Amino acid sequence: MLVGADGIRSTVRAQFLPQVQPIYAGYVAWRAVLDEARVPREAHRDIFELYTFCLPEGEQLLGYPVPGHDGDTVPGRRRYNIVWYRPVDTPVLDAMCTDASGQLQSGGIAPSLIRDEIVARVKADAEALLAPQLAEIFLRSEPFFQPIFDLESPALAFGRVALTGDAAFVVRPHVGAGATKAAIDATVLADCLGRAGEDVAGGLARFESVQRPFGRDIVALSRQQGSYLSAQLKPQAQRRGSELRRDVEALLYAHGNRSDQIGDIVAARGLDAYF
Ligand SMILES: Cc1cc2nc3c(=O)[nH]c(=O)nc-3n(C[C@H](O)[C@H](O)[C@H](O)COP(=O)(O)OP(=O)(O)OC[C@H]3O[C@@H](n4cnc5c(N)ncnc54)[C@H](O)[C@@H]3O)c2cc1C
Repeated sequence: MLVGADGIRSTVRAQFLPQVQPIYAGYVAWRAVLDEARVPREAHRDIFELYTFCLPEGEQLLGYPVPGHDGDTVPGRRRYNIVWYRPVDTPVLDAMCTDASGQLQSGGIAPSLIRDEIVARVKADAEALLAPQLAEIFLRSEPFFQPIFDLESPALAFGRVALTGDAAFVVRPHVGAGATKAAIDATVLADCLGRAGEDVAGGLARFESVQRPFGRDIVALSRQQGSYLSAQLKPQAQRRGSELRRDVEALLYAHGNRSDQIGDIVAARGLDAYF
């Protein structure tokens, strides 16, 4: 059998579900990583050890320490990571994804191909919009961006072929669970096949019946958490509820309880046994 674990642009999925394409969420994530040794002293003192939010109007930034090269967690050898969500409409995104030779890199552009003027513009915005500690870290880094997409597959099993991870469902990063979901998919697939013995089709049918609702639930949660950002491209009059105004307390609560939220979905879908 074949397991399609080939990510958001899965060629395996494209064979069976050519109509299913990643849906652009209406915003990009600018990413910046800086070695701890290069973080200015004041910024290090103020925020390095903290999970930090910065919320310019219509945007959202998270900053937090991550391991250094080779997973090093020794103080002084770690890195600081920034994820800055910024609404961008499709024509502007296409311009941002066009390299210096005029070639449009649809679906996302490699960091090395992002034009200098795009980076210069986001750095100027960082100076104008961000808390100074975060701006200083961002300005010292070599930022790049990723358009945010999500995707739901209506089926995960096709004969002796299965889709797992981002090939099956793409979860927006807010819930921090895409890698976890991919791991649960793999575990449940192995379990279903193990129990099915020679009946591969039966095992795959069971896998699909368990993991499709699970994937749908996580995608729905990630869309809900990104709704304020997606809504920024709508006219004000068409926005509703949480799309209109950000509830900062709810945002902090959702981030503080990410594991519980995923745990609730796991429990509701009867997947506790895999933990
Ligand atoms: C900005 C951002 C932040 C994120 N933050 C988090 C987070 O904090 N926590 C979290 O859990 N998740 C996070 N995610 C999501 C997470 O990265 C993905 O959900 C996860 O990597 C999916 O794993 P995967 O193995 O299914 O796919 P991938 O990690 O995409 O792996 C697919 C692999 O298949 C290979 N491949 C593709 N095509 C072929 C082919 N034809 N032949 C052979 N190999 C092929 C690729 O090279 C790649 O190695 C984030 C995503 C984004 C965009």
